[in-house]
Amino acid sequence: MSALVLDGLTKRYGSFVAVHGASLRIPHGQFVCLLGPSGCGKTTLLRMIAGLEDPSGGRLIIDDRDITDAPAHTREFGMVFQSLALFPHLTAGENIAYPLRIRGAPRAEQKRRAEELLELVRLPGAADRPVSKLSGGQRQRVAIARALALSPKLFLLDEPLSALDAKLREAMQIELKQLQQRLGITTIVVTHDQREAMTMADLVVVMSQGRIHQAAPPMEVYRQPADAFVADFIGMTNLLDGEIAGPGTVAVPGGTLALPGLPPSGRVLLSVRPEEVLVHPAGQEGPNRLSGTLAFMRDLGASVEFRIDVAGREIVALSRPQDRPPVQPGGRLTVEFPRESCIVLPPAPPVEHA
Ligand code: ATP
Repeated sequence: MSALVLDGLTKRYGSFVAVHGASLRIPHGQFVCLLGPSGCGKTTLLRMIAGLEDPSGGRLIIDDRDITDAPAHTREFGMVFQSLALFPHLTAGENIAYPLRIRGAPRAEQKRRAEELLELVRLPGAADRPVSKLSGGQRQRVAIARALALSPKLFLLDEPLSALDAKLREAMQIELKQLQQRLGITTIVVTHDQREAMTMADLVVVMSQGRIHQAAPPMEVYRQPADAFVADFIGMTNLLDGEIAGPGTVAVPGGTLALPGLPPSGRVLLSVRPEEVLVHPAGQEGPNRLSGTLAFMRDLGASVEFRIDVAGREIVALSRPQDRPPVQPGGRLTVEFPRESCIVLPPAPPVEHA
């Protein structure tokens, strides 16, 4: 099966390295999200794939063909930019047919294809409407349809939904995913929104400071984050520094925990999601339980959030309202870190946890 291979793609701007040796194999038909905070190099990586930015090093291979130096227009990729870049004086149909017009396709074919694509993006009958009269979500659909006009091999989108309001954005995430599934086209989307990536992607590529930290399916990224950065970026998490105290036990601030998967010695970092931390009344001791003081509590409707001071570290727990222990801020309680909920990570570099 054909695939897109990034082999050590690097981009330098002078002495600044925007992308460090990105290597990745994307099987045909995958929906990939490049995810990371602002400035991590997502757009630069996407633009190198598109051929809009020359790599300073590395190779790009599609279907076993090296296209590292191939000009953008020969790559047959469809691209949607954050700005959409639609022609405001043209109709929706004319915008969509534009790539066909440039190729000299007959007018009847342009019209037929524009109508077919409008149907595909759920805007039937909008061919003659000026894009300036369309809503944000409708323009988004026109930009997507235009990028698909030439049946591209690869569909590339840079923050395509970021201009939409939250509700429309969620609806479009689902639509985009369904469209991609119908077409089976390999798709790469840049986003800084974790939820968006988790909703749409088959493969989430988590980046920070120009490096790929992890590339894996959404649930794997969530359940087995590769390191502290991924654990923290993918969802709020509790990170605890630990030192191996004996076989299967680790000392953390406030006590010890017995856990599977620990190395024989040295330091580790533990990640525990707030929804996995259990909260009990003070004095209910047991395995993997530590005592703490409730610093803050708030009702979130479906859950209750606790911020608990455990030996000077703040632990966040999310409990079901019915499981809430009878305690007020300033009161003591017991926090449990269940064995199967603690993810053992390599120790964090000292600079990140100074
Ligand atoms: P955002 O989500 O904010 O768009 P990003 O993850 O897409 O961020 P990039 O746009 O890829 O990040 O930029 C990565 C880094 O490279 C940034 O620090 C940026 O300032 C730098 N950079 C990008 N383009 C250039 C350029 N033409 N010249 C110099 N530095 C650049």
